Amino acid sequence: MKLACLDLEGVLVPEIWINVAESTGIEALRRTTRDEPDYDVLMRSRLEILAEHGLRLSDIQEVIGRMRPLEGAAEFLDWLRERFQVVILSDTFYEFADPLMAQIGRPTLFCHRIETDDSGRVVAYHIRLEDQKRKAVEAFRQLNFQVIAAGDSYNDTSMLTEADAGILFRPPDNVIEDFPQFPVTRSFEELRAEFAKAGGIDR
Ligand SMILES: [Mg+2]
Repeated sequence: MKLACLDLEGVLVPEIWINVAESTGIEALRRTTRDEPDYDVLMRSRLEILAEHGLRLSDIQEVIGRMRPLEGAAEFLDWLRERFQVVILSDTFYEFADPLMAQIGRPTLFCHRIETDDSGRVVAYHIRLEDQKRKAVEAFRQLNFQVIAAGDSYNDTSMLTEADAGILFRPPDNVIEDFPQFPVTRSFEELRAEFAKAGGIDR
């Protein structure tokens, strides 16, 4: 049995924090895992910025509610789910992701949680497990799944390495330079082709 593990932001949906940055005009929120490989450093700085500007979870959810999946993502996911078991492994939060997941048929999602105080301000975030993407792939392989993983960024490279096959989708140049072993895809057509190739299936 073959299992496809997909990153969410940058693969199926736009970068949530970049949309929040654009909507709020707070430039400092534009940094993502593409720029800062250390997720904890990135998230702590995001929480500080939210606190500085008095932004609540509901403000962020309002922005996310207006977002749409990437063009072609829903069709790609339909194609993939006919051929593989699909699990989304993401470093986003359930409290953020739901409006977007609803638009792509709510595939299985493993991600993290946000904690708010009584006034709805984001006070903390709770990682499911350190290095969850890689550890999930490792566990799936122990369950005798052949795992093919795709992602766009630094926080995906450990799961891509752990998988039987790893694929980069629209990655920034620095990720390509640091991880030249993974095939690079730029369109959903190319991503389908790589999944088919790695999975040994007809398209
Ligand atoms: Mg991503």
